[in-house]
Amino acid sequence: TNRPIRRALVSVFHKEGIEVLAEAFIKAGVEVVSTGSTAKRLAELGVPVTEVSEVTGFPECLDGRVKTLDPHIHAGILADMTNPDHAAQLEKFGIKPFDLVVVNLYPFADTVRSGADEAATIEKIDIGGPSMVRGAAKNSATVAIITDPADYALVAERISNGEGFSLEERRWLAGKAFAHTAAYDATINEWTAKHWPKPATIAETDHDDEDHPVNDAKFPAAFTRTWDRAHTLRYGENSHQQAALYLDPLDRNGFAHAEQLGGKPMSYNNYVDADAAWRAVWDMAPSIAVAVVKHNNPCGLAIGATAAEAHKKAHACDPVSAYGGVIACNSTVTLEMAESVRPIFTEVIVAPAYEPEALELLQAKKKNLRILKVAEPPKGHTQFRQIDGGLLVQDMDLINAAGDDPDAWKLVSGEPADEATLKDLVFAWRAIRCVKSNAILLAHDQATVGIGMGQVNRVDSCHLAVERANTLADGADRATGSVAASDAFFPFADGAETLMDAGVKAIVQPGGSIRDEEVIEAAKKAGVTMYLTGTRHFFH
Ligand code: 5GP
Repeated sequence: TNRPIRRALVSVFHKEGIEVLAEAFIKAGVEVVSTGSTAKRLAELGVPVTEVSEVTGFPECLDGRVKTLDPHIHAGILADMTNPDHAAQLEKFGIKPFDLVVVNLYPFADTVRSGADEAATIEKIDIGGPSMVRGAAKNSATVAIITDPADYALVAERISNGEGFSLEERRWLAGKAFAHTAAYDATINEWTAKHWPKPATIAETDHDDEDHPVNDAKFPAAFTRTWDRAHTLRYGENSHQQAALYLDPLDRNGFAHAEQLGGKPMSYNNYVDADAAWRAVWDMAPSIAVAVVKHNNPCGLAIGATAAEAHKKAHACDPVSAYGGVIACNSTVTLEMAESVRPIFTEVIVAPAYEPEALELLQAKKKNLRILKVAEPPKGHTQFRQIDGGLLVQDMDLINAAGDDPDAWKLVSGEPADEATLKDLVFAWRAIRCVKSNAILLAHDQATVGIGMGQVNRVDSCHLAVERANTLADGADRATGSVAASDAFFPFADGAETLMDAGVKAIVQPGGSIRDEEVIEAAKKAGVTMYLTGTRHFFH
C-alpha cells in the first residue's frame, strides 16, 4: 500500500523547517508545485518549482483570496489513482495527480490575538488552504497530507528512502488534517460568535424562557471550541487516571500559560489548586493579597500592606493545613515574602512577578518548589462541566459589582458597622467566593481566621469555622470579635447562632431564606450587626 512520492503540492504560511523538505525534494527529484511566496522560498533553496498559476493557467487574484481554487489543482488532489476511471479522467483533462500535499494555514488565532482589526482578521481566514487539506485528507487512498511542520522530518525520510507512506499512515495523517481544519474553523466560529452575535431581527427559536433570553455570543447553538494539547501530565487526580493539559488558542497569557521558573513539572492537582489560588488573590485587587490553597480550598487568605505581610497573615490562619499548599500572590513576590515562604513546605507559588533576589532564594533553597509567573490576571471565562451525556456551561462567578458594594447591602440587625469592621466584612464577602460550599468564613484585620468549607449543611460549616479559628492559633480565641461571611443564606437560625455564640460581631450573608426573619431576630437578640447582600456565591 506504500505510495512513493513523485509529485508534491506545497503551500505553507509558516516557512520554518521547509529546508528539510527542500533538501529531500531536490535529492529525490520530486516534482513540486507551489504558491507565490512558498514557491519563492523553495526556489531560493534550489528546488525546481512550478508555480500554481502555471498549472492553472490563471493568475493568483483578489489579493490572494483565489490561488489554488482551481480544478487543475483540486482534481490532482482528489483523483483516487487506485480507481482506473479517475486515472483516465485525469489523462483526458491533462491533469497530473499529487502524491503529497503540504499545507499550513493562515494564522487566524495569532491574528486575533495580535489585536488586528476586523478587516485584517477576515483576510486571515484561509479558504484555499483548508480546501486542499480536506481534499487530500479525503483522498488518503492515494495522497499523503501534511499539516504539521513537526512531521517534515518524517516526510523527508520517506521521500529519501523512496518508500512514501503506507495506507494506514496516510489515513492517520488524514485524521490529523481533519482535526487541524476542524480546530481552525472552530476558532473562527469562536471569534464570530463574540463579534457577530445573533441580531435582534432574527427571532429566538430555540428556547421559550422570556426571562432568561439566550446570549448568543456566549451560548451559540452548538459549541465548536477547541483547545490545543500542550502536553500530557504524569497522571490525573490519581495515579491511575491519565491526563493532559490543553490550551486555549485565543489566550496566550492566562494562568494555563504560566511560565515556570523552577521546580518539578506541574501536576493535574497543582494546576487545579494554583488556578483557584490565582483567582482568589485577584478578587482582592487592587489590594495586595496572598492565598494559600489546598485541595481547591483556601486555608488562608489575607490582604497586607506588603506581599510579605499578606503571606504571614494568610499562613497564620491555618499553619497546619498550609503544609504542602499552593501559594498565590497578586503582586510582586519580594525577598521578604520569599523568606517568609522559605521554611514552609510548599508545592507551587504563583505570582505576576518576582524580585530577582526573591526568585534566586526560592530557586536555590527550594529545588522542588514549582515557581510560576503569569502574565495576566484571570479573565472571566465560560466554565464547562461535563456530565454523563452532556455539558453544563456557565459564566464564571465574578465578584459581582452589586453584591460587592457595601453601600448596596441591607443592614437588618444591630448598629451599622464601623469603618474597620465594614472593611473586614467586605474582605470576608470577597473571600467567601473561593471557598467550597457550604462556606462560612471568619475574618479579622483583613485576613481569614477560620474557614468552614465543603460541609453538606451550613451549621457544620459554622462549627468548623469557629473551631478552626480557636484551635489553630495555639488556643487563642480568634472567633471573638471577628466578622463572618456565609456564601448563601442561613436556612435556619442555628448556624448564625453558632457564630454569634462564639463571639462573632458582624455577619454578611445573601439573605433570601423563608426563615430570614428568624435569623435576623437571633442576630438582633445577640446585638450582632447583620448585612444582606442579595447575591449568592455557591461554589461546588
Ligand atoms: P504563499 O505564502 O505560498 O503565497 O501562500 C501560502 C498560504 O496560502 C497557505 O497558508 C495556504 O493555506 C494559503 N492558500 C493557498 N491557496 C489559497 C487560496 O486559493 N485562497 C486562500 N485564501 N488561501 C490560499
